Amino acid sequence: MFAERSPFGFGYGGKILRVNLSNGKITTEPLPGKLVRDYLGGRGFAARILYDELKPGIDPMGPDNKVLIASGPLAGLFLPAGGKITFAAKSPATNSYGDSNMGGHLAAEVKYAGYDVIIIEGAAAQPVYLYINNDKVEIRDAAKYWGQGAIITEDMLKNDLGREFEIATIGPAGENKIKFACISHDFGRQAGRTGIGAVMGSKNLKAVAVKGTKSLKVADPDKLLEIGKQAFADCFKHTGWKQWVAQGTAGVTVWSNQQGSFPTRNFQSGSLKGYENISGDELVKQTLVNHKACFGCPCACGKYAKTVRNNKDYYVEGPEYETAALIGGDCAIGNMADLTYANYICDELGIDTISGGSVVAFAMECYEKGIITKKDTGGMDWKFGSIEAFDKIINMIARRQGIGNLLADGVKIASEKLGKGSEKFAMQVKGLEISGYESRNAPAMMLAYMTCDIGAHHNRAWAITHDIQVGRDIIEGKAKKVVELQHIRPIFDMVGCCRLQWVELELKLDYYPQLLKAATGLDFTWDEMLKASERVWNLTRLFLIKEHTQTFGRQFDYPPARWYEETVVNGPTKGSIISKANIDILLDEYYNVRGWDKNGKPTPEKLKELGL
Ligand code: SF4
Repeated sequence: MFAERSPFGFGYGGKILRVNLSNGKITTEPLPGKLVRDYLGGRGFAARILYDELKPGIDPMGPDNKVLIASGPLAGLFLPAGGKITFAAKSPATNSYGDSNMGGHLAAEVKYAGYDVIIIEGAAAQPVYLYINNDKVEIRDAAKYWGQGAIITEDMLKNDLGREFEIATIGPAGENKIKFACISHDFGRQAGRTGIGAVMGSKNLKAVAVKGTKSLKVADPDKLLEIGKQAFADCFKHTGWKQWVAQGTAGVTVWSNQQGSFPTRNFQSGSLKGYENISGDELVKQTLVNHKACFGCPCACGKYAKTVRNNKDYYVEGPEYETAALIGGDCAIGNMADLTYANYICDELGIDTISGGSVVAFAMECYEKGIITKKDTGGMDWKFGSIEAFDKIINMIARRQGIGNLLADGVKIASEKLGKGSEKFAMQVKGLEISGYESRNAPAMMLAYMTCDIGAHHNRAWAITHDIQVGRDIIEGKAKKVVELQHIRPIFDMVGCCRLQWVELELKLDYYPQLLKAATGLDFTWDEMLKASERVWNLTRLFLIKEHTQTFGRQFDYPPARWYEETVVNGPTKGSIISKANIDILLDEYYNVRGWDKNGKPTPEKLKELGL
């Protein structure tokens, strides 16, 4: 399969940069060939390195945890949307493998600096940032940036170092180790999920600043140009391209409400009354300033927006669909101006809008049910729909003030401490808050949340369209589709490309092995790429098992009780519920398709087949 020569001369940077913040040691290592062959890049590299280097049971917020920044072989090249990079660590939200993917321009810059992976270990005694200018790597004092918002910090660092530096930074939420703190880049792109911003904060690491000016050699430049041009042309001629550029993911809001899939009032319902007010059309009419793209992207789904509040202008990239769902729907913030402002607050504090929205929605429901009272809120009404309440709650969380300290650990831990039945409506799986799809009438989507390796996240298997296509009441057969998607979609995170060109513009999957070959000289078939993805999926499962050896079992894959004990209260899916028996059928089928045992453990035969 592989050419005789070293496979790392092309496409890859060829080096791993390792920085120890405890002792200041900075080293580089060659990228191991076996890592490339078995794991391709990005998320694959991150999963293997973290599995090998982290001892089970370490504190995710302690110096033994590591933050990995891992690029892929197609990042930074002439092809559609090679601008994605993976951040990974042991997640403080799930106590298992966590990663999150970020767009923007960092992925290309890391490659141009000559690196495929940056491993950050230990913890600094004082606030620092990591300075990378090609081969010059320094740990620098960050005292002047500490305490500043994530977006402001990016601007400050660009002013200080040069606008050509690409910056990834945390906000106050990361500094205060909020378990759903994100990492921000490019004035509005985030590695949002699994709390890796908190891990950076626990290391006193405010930011990473990267400048790369090296050339990136590819195996067959003419071929890459030819295939890249054709792939761009296919994107531009797709009938959905114009609409995609016009509204980005905000265009999904109306569809989701019409399907009854829009999480509303902490997933009590699947459609928000007045959802038209937070639609993509309203974004374009009311707040849009400009369209914004990640590196090499033909779609520009980023919507740079402005809102005015108390005579002050606020600029933010968004709100995209997931923000509309978890803040607009789940907290019932049903107008574009308030939603845009809420998006701004989260981005500046450095909070994932998915988990952040979900935690505020949980707090609002606790208030509605008298579990949180005016004694906790300082006399304020924390009712659904109040932007003032949202502002207050999210700021209390980011600064760990009062009951915000409890909510800062996410809905799972907060509900375990609050009790009084709140566990039932703590909308999470494995400790990660559920993203933007009400799923009681979408079993494949629910199964995708239940079995996602980082906790309940949509990006591994956006299966709701499959439910709609084949029948929303059907249970049998859904597992096969979920597994298929769970192998396809993470490939994009491994090679360093955005998946939306495939999902939304139907860019053919055949392109990716061709692009990989032209870039790296490595002759993978699509099936071999799928096998690498399956290997990563099983490896992250082994990570979960290793961290929970005494307690591991299928209960890790159950959804919150709300989904099998309560019906959807209104909207097009009103009355929907899934039985526990059907959840078990979904899981039994899923384990079977995967070659796992009845408790969800990979069998020795499956591990042997994957070389694990
Ligand atoms: S589609 Fe959106 S997320 Fe994907 S690369 Fe383009 S701008 Fe970035």
